[in-house]
Amino acid sequence: MTASITFFPVDNGDMTLLTFDNDQTLLIDMHVRKAADNADDDTPDVMADLRSRLKRDAKGRMFVDGFLLSHPDKDHIGGLETHFHLGPPDEWKKDDDKILIREMWSSPVVFRRASKTHTLCDDAKAWAKEARRRVALYREKGTATIEGDRIQIMGEDEDGKTDDILAIVVKADELVTKLNRVAADTFEAGLFAPLPQGDDEELDELLAKNRSSVILRFSIRGGGIPDKCRFLTGGDAEVAIWERLWNKHGGDRADWLSYDILQAPHHCSWHSLSYDSYSDCGEDAEVCEGARSALAQIRKGAIIVASSKTIDPEDADPPSDRAKREYISIVDDAADRFLCVADVWNDEQRALQYDITSSGVTKTVKTAAKAAVAALGIGATASQARAHG
Ligand SMILES: [Zn+2]
Repeated sequence: MTASITFFPVDNGDMTLLTFDNDQTLLIDMHVRKAADNADDDTPDVMADLRSRLKRDAKGRMFVDGFLLSHPDKDHIGGLETHFHLGPPDEWKKDDDKILIREMWSSPVVFRRASKTHTLCDDAKAWAKEARRRVALYREKGTATIEGDRIQIMGEDEDGKTDDILAIVVKADELVTKLNRVAADTFEAGLFAPLPQGDDEELDELLAKNRSSVILRFSIRGGGIPDKCRFLTGGDAEVAIWERLWNKHGGDRADWLSYDILQAPHHCSWHSLSYDSYSDCGEDAEVCEGARSALAQIRKGAIIVASSKTIDPEDADPPSDRAKREYISIVDDAADRFLCVADVWNDEQRALQYDITSSGVTKTVKTAAKAAVAALGIGATASQARAHG
């Protein structure tokens, strides 16, 4: 199986599938709008596309090996309850045909920070409930938990709340090397954020306001060769967080942040690059050099992807045209190495996909589109059947 990264067209939101070269899959966030589930609407049917890329287990259950939630906002978790099985795996129902999450990757600290600033949506609450169920089960059964009951915690919780379950906690600055308990050397991922809860309340407040998200830098094996693609993804993390990461890792450890593909944070928002308001300052708004440096550690030929709607200078931020120009300057002023997922959909009617092979990272070419469209047809039939069943 060829390793790949697929960005689904979900407007301003994230929905990204990593497939490793041992066939394991990791979904990062989801944003399924109601219109995307409506066959009569021309919003891309991203669930049909996702389903066409997943496998079923011996019990006939479609599954992802892992699901990482970067943070619990609607544009990162919308559609969870409709499309994913939650609760004990043996309660999975054939008629519903929802997708089983073999292992959740979740961050309690990010949830705490999000609930400080706003009310969580129903899908976010459902995720949190499922995460609590799985943690409780781990406390009871330890490593005897089965697929569909498993969870890895991204970052320690506050006040030592995760001290008794450290075997399933990845701390900031540590590496994630297992997916669904399998350590197959197909990837490793450095966990940069959430930054740990400190004693400093002011800092905690700042982190909450900066859309605290899980930030991971993957190193992915391609065609059996390690580290063929580095992928940096950080949800909606904003400028203060990136600046802190640079202060912490710049210099000696700058290589930790280096990438072949960057998912531009917060749907290409200006607020991930600057403390200045663009609407107030216009072109005089200044880029924060620290944040920019954290997001500028490119490897040769690196690409930046905006998971957003089409970038229009006249429209509200995100996505921001000024941020887009800054990102293009990061990729050696090569405008064709900055891609917006919505534009790829408009041009090619398919998700943006990069294959990772022994020769490197390549965008899948148009001839593959036919297969994707055919698969979409099959998927759409299944989801319609589900809707009527
Ligand atoms: Zn977002």
